[in-house]
Amino acid sequence: MGSMHTRLDGEVNSARRQAAFYAERARGEIGLMVTGGFAPNTSGLLEPDGPVLDEPVKAQELQFITDAVHEHGGKICLQILHAGRYAKQKDCVAPSAIRAPINTIMPRALSSAEIEQTIEDYAYAAVLAKQAGFDGVEIMGSEGYLINQFTAPRTNDRVDKWGGIAEKRHRFPVEVVRRSREAVGTDFIIMYRISALDLVEGGATGKEIDDLAAKVEAAGADILNTGIGWHEARVPTIAYMIPRGAWRFAAARLKKVVSIPVVASNRINMPDVAEEILASSGADLVSMARPLLADPQFMRKAREGSPERINTCIACNQACLDYIFSNRVATCLVNPKACYETEFSDEPADEPKRIAVLGAGAGGLAFASEAAARGHQVVLYEASDRLGGQLNLARAVPGKEEFGELLRYFDVRLREGGVEIKLNCEPNADEIVAGEYDEVVVATGIAPRTPDIDGVDHPKVVSYVDILNGKVTAGKTVAIIGSGGIGFDVAEYLVQQSAVNGKTTRFFAEWSVDTSISLPGGLMGDPLAPVTPARDIYMLQRKSSKPGAGLGVSTGWILRNALRKRSVKMLPGVTYEHIDDEGLHITCNGERQTIRADTIVICAGQEPNRTLYDALRSRGLNAYLIGGAELAMELDARRAIDQGVRLAQRL
Ligand code: NAP
Ligand code: SF4
Repeated sequence: MGSMHTRLDGEVNSARRQAAFYAERARGEIGLMVTGGFAPNTSGLLEPDGPVLDEPVKAQELQFITDAVHEHGGKICLQILHAGRYAKQKDCVAPSAIRAPINTIMPRALSSAEIEQTIEDYAYAAVLAKQAGFDGVEIMGSEGYLINQFTAPRTNDRVDKWGGIAEKRHRFPVEVVRRSREAVGTDFIIMYRISALDLVEGGATGKEIDDLAAKVEAAGADILNTGIGWHEARVPTIAYMIPRGAWRFAAARLKKVVSIPVVASNRINMPDVAEEILASSGADLVSMARPLLADPQFMRKAREGSPERINTCIACNQACLDYIFSNRVATCLVNPKACYETEFSDEPADEPKRIAVLGAGAGGLAFASEAAARGHQVVLYEASDRLGGQLNLARAVPGKEEFGELLRYFDVRLREGGVEIKLNCEPNADEIVAGEYDEVVVATGIAPRTPDIDGVDHPKVVSYVDILNGKVTAGKTVAIIGSGGIGFDVAEYLVQQSAVNGKTTRFFAEWSVDTSISLPGGLMGDPLAPVTPARDIYMLQRKSSKPGAGLGVSTGWILRNALRKRSVKMLPGVTYEHIDDEGLHITCNGERQTIRADTIVICAGQEPNRTLYDALRSRGLNAYLIGGAELAMELDARRAIDQGVRLAQRL
């Protein structure tokens, strides 16, 4: 299990919650885990109150983690991470005073004496990790943190023995590994996470990376883990639009230059992808992080030969990275129990009940499968001919095919739990009352909002639903009314529709990735270079704020850049005047203009669908309301699944 920041360390009951988090994953048969990053000294902290391992008392405090993991047969390494110029705190240091584009703080260049001391601090942190009972350490040398800042010319313009030619730029990581090995002895894992592909201008070439890997092995590393892309890279590396296993070539390359085990990582989310990489000698080990948030029992299910039972990470980043970036504890869209293990129970319900669930979107599916697993007898009604509700639309968006895995997972759980599924079935309130259920859960979802614009019933106007489910094919010029999450999804769908997205070679070509890594950083041009769009798209919103401002932090920039590359025009501050045969008439910045659109797609949010709930209430039935039907303005699979699972735990 690759290193993940969870923010559990700053929580009330932190020790209990972290122990539960790691123990659950050790029970799930994960062979070797890596903790989130610990700074070797306070200058290396990513944030002022982050975790640092610099004195024995802190090592003692970490023993609850190693005990919890060992008790369940697992092994665990502590990651040592010095943030360098990515530090969001006053004492921000780096090899050179060159500011990171993703940080407002200008770093101070380390003196020679401070560099020596920092190396000693790494080695001491490794010693303390050993004292705390860890099986080893991972030295974080990728993603653009301090070690990378030494290795790449982009961030290192020193003229002393720590900068200049590659041999001097490599001196820092090599010394960190060598002195850490000296300090901890032989019976302790040292894993080094190398940046196998920097994806930034002025990054390392493949030859330099190969040389560093060989030197790190010689200095005493036992395992070579791989990282892809610096945090400041403009190429997406782990979000859903990256094809599965895309980065395997970078690990495979290193396997040829070292004799220690090499680990492949990034966008490996199902056992068949991992197995294929191992079987083709692309790596000796596979590291996954988010997939093990999504399903702590991943490895056990893989070993048992039942991958269809795995709750697959859909690479959305919505509840893991986006939560971390907004100072919240990480969790998982598909698994709300992640990092909240202490709040859930696997015990069956005290009293099995007959429960009707009305609506089989994300909320209804999550409730029905969890309730059935707890022993309730569940009947699931769905008005359409298929399970999934809005999830079916999400999976139509290029790159979001992973949502299909969520539907597969729910389908398997419903069958395992013996849920009675009634498709094409829309019972009225009287029929539900007559069913004499012990509980009724209403998850009837949403109805797309139709804005009050003169001419909105013109034949050019369609709902996003009809575009994404393929009922309507848009014309050459398209105006999209509404630039929220769904407006962006529709734009992505329409600009890429004829361009078969999602395939690895096309992905590399689009983002200028040089898979031979013969050029610095593995880039063969500007990742933001224009791409010919399938259509001319205009995205509109009434607010004057930046379109897409509400998108997830870790995916919003990718979506915005992908659309800009395809010349999508984004117009904020719009007033909709009317729609006619000519197109959409608007006022923007005080000027009237006409967008001569062939198709106008409405993506103006949703209204809750509560007709059935209100009818049930009027008959005195006290039903539960969850998902979009409860709060359409936050129509959101994460919230719906969380609500469904938590309600099922209560009943
Ligand atoms: P949304 O994000 O709330 O956006 C609704 C859009 O419609 C806004 O641009 C809004 O802008 C506009 N609008 C609202 N009322 C309008 C009206 N009466 N007339 C004209 N325009 C109107 O809703 P959504 O796009 O339907 O997405 C729903 C939810 O799905 C989101 O909250 C998100 O959680 C989730 N989602 C997220 C993503 C993602 O992050 N990539 C993708 C898909 C869905 P103005 O009011 O400024 O015009
Ligand atoms: Fe994966 Fe999304 Fe869960 Fe993060 S929130 S672990 S990306 S499914």
